[in-house]
Amino acid sequence: MTMASITRVLRPLSRTVPSLRPAAIRPLASRPLQSTYAFSTTCRRREADLTGLTPTPITHLSETESMMAETVSKFAEEQIGPKVREMDEAETMDPALVEHLFEQGIMGIEIPEEFGGAGMNFTAAIVAIEELARVDPSVSVLVDVHNTLVNTAFIKWGDAQVQRTWLPKLATGTVGSFCLSEPVSGSDAFALQTKAEKTADGYKLNGSKMWITNSMEAGVFIVFANLNPSKGYKGITAFIVEKDTPGFSIAKKEKKLGIKASSTCVLNFDDVVIPKGNLLGEEGQGYKYAIGLLNEGRIGIAAQMTGLALGAWENAAKYVWNDRRQFGQLVGEFQGMQHQIAQAYTEIAAARALVYNAARKKEAGQDFVQDAAMAKLYASQVAGRVAGSAVEWMGGMGFVREGIAEKMFRDSKIGAIYEGTSNIQLQTIAKLLQKQYTR
Ligand SMILES: Cc1cc2nc3c(=O)[nH]c(=O)nc-3n(C[C@H](O)[C@H](O)[C@H](O)COP(=O)(O)OP(=O)(O)OC[C@H]3O[C@@H](n4cnc5c(N)ncnc54)[C@H](O)[C@@H]3O)c2cc1C
Repeated sequence: MTMASITRVLRPLSRTVPSLRPAAIRPLASRPLQSTYAFSTTCRRREADLTGLTPTPITHLSETESMMAETVSKFAEEQIGPKVREMDEAETMDPALVEHLFEQGIMGIEIPEEFGGAGMNFTAAIVAIEELARVDPSVSVLVDVHNTLVNTAFIKWGDAQVQRTWLPKLATGTVGSFCLSEPVSGSDAFALQTKAEKTADGYKLNGSKMWITNSMEAGVFIVFANLNPSKGYKGITAFIVEKDTPGFSIAKKEKKLGIKASSTCVLNFDDVVIPKGNLLGEEGQGYKYAIGLLNEGRIGIAAQMTGLALGAWENAAKYVWNDRRQFGQLVGEFQGMQHQIAQAYTEIAAARALVYNAARKKEAGQDFVQDAAMAKLYASQVAGRVAGSAVEWMGGMGFVREGIAEKMFRDSKIGAIYEGTSNIQLQTIAKLLQKQYTR
């Protein structure tokens, strides 16, 4: 396939492939009764009509999703691969690469076609995030935050005017950023201190945000601020802040352990005037929007970590099974290492199953909160383990700053921190399980 844009390549298909509808993709999901029969050992099993049951692997992709995977994989290998090391060392995202991401249609995956997006489904975004992370988790998180948090917020809660103004820009050239965390409110995000006040024509913002991904590249920022602190978290409101608004500034760019090409900054808001039209959704609903977005976004981070783990595994497997000989034998053929390599791949496959299960449940409109938390928790654990082992399998070559092995290891650490730390995922999972199992 040529490197034509995903939008151009996939759009005609997405019109002709009706299977993008969740019900068509996962026929079993709508037949709980039959699947119960299928697992029964009684004679009812023989009586049940099993002709409609076609077991589908959870990682099965529709035609358009497969095409997304292939196109993004090729793009990542050819266009991103050669820049990974340089961008990491320079701690900068190449602006030309960001332009290519827009040209490829990767920045507007779920934005409807009428607004210039690809009009595709959530799993297509997950596939793209995973494929990008196989090559560079920094580029992957830029695309992830833009698609799963920012675009989704505009699609779900933007009024007609906001959507007409912003969705075409987000699909074609304006990077978005999601600003919730602050110096003293990370895990406890709703203790945020940034204040909004009502004015005659709109609002005024004062405060600071910390750890904000895409800050250097973004043209638009979704900022959560408290409009009514007396109501606690129920005062939290989402605002649209444009890059050049007076009083808004980037105070500091963090120097990080991993995903170094992804920008992470402290932002200041000093009497920033926000017109009425830049309210996103309704006043006081910001906490609900943030919870909803992060629940979905976690599946994106889980996909990023799965892609990272696979990228690290493949890089090391190719080296030990092809390039590195010791005592006349390829090092990857030593039995202990063979077993570790097999164990690691099995864990990656298990993480992928959790990721795709959570994505499909979200698309099917089912409750996916626990699934998303389990996927993010496990995928980041697997990424850490696999990327760490991959360094060891490659010996000295895994430890030097040449290939991607040591970078993938450093990058893997962030999976346990952003969009809810691993402790927070465990807390969510435990709370939901306890509810289910308490008499
Ligand atoms: C590279 C990077 C990019 C980021 N991008 C964004 C972004 O784009 N937008 C945004 O809004 N935020 C972003 N964040 C912020 C990120 O979501 C927070 O760092 C994260 O939520 C953790 O918050 P904290 O750093 O304040 O750590 P803390 O909340 O202080 O946590 C420190 C430790 O305490 C534990 N802990 C805290 N509370 C509990 C509890 N109740 N129970 C058990 N353990 C607990 C945590 O698990 C952790 O181990 C980013 C962070 C990083 C590092």
